[in-house]
Amino acid sequence: MSDINSELDTLDTGTMEFMRWLVNKDTNSGSTIIIVKDYLDNKYVILFDKSISKDVIVGYREGMPWCVTCNTDDCGHVGFAICLKQNYDRDGQVIF
Ligand SMILES: [Zn+2]
Repeated sequence: MSDINSELDTLDTGTMEFMRWLVNKDTNSGSTIIIVKDYLDNKYVILFDKSISKDVIVGYREGMPWCVTCNTDDCGHVGFAICLKQNYDRDGQVIF
């Protein structure tokens, strides 16, 4: 496990946070932990994690997401990135 101490420390918390992000992004209510800063399909996702006040970079290794910040493939940022990609594949774009 990582020593980053983000609230998003499992894939499941990342998935739940994505659901919250999806609902809140249009209203900008500010209750999400994650802010999506940049997204390039199959290259990287840059997130801002409010629980650690840091930018988090999720890159892709052979098509699989990998959190550079936590140095793991099973943190919440990876869970969030997987959901984001599924959303992208369905809509052809990420709106944030
Ligand atoms: Zn992470």
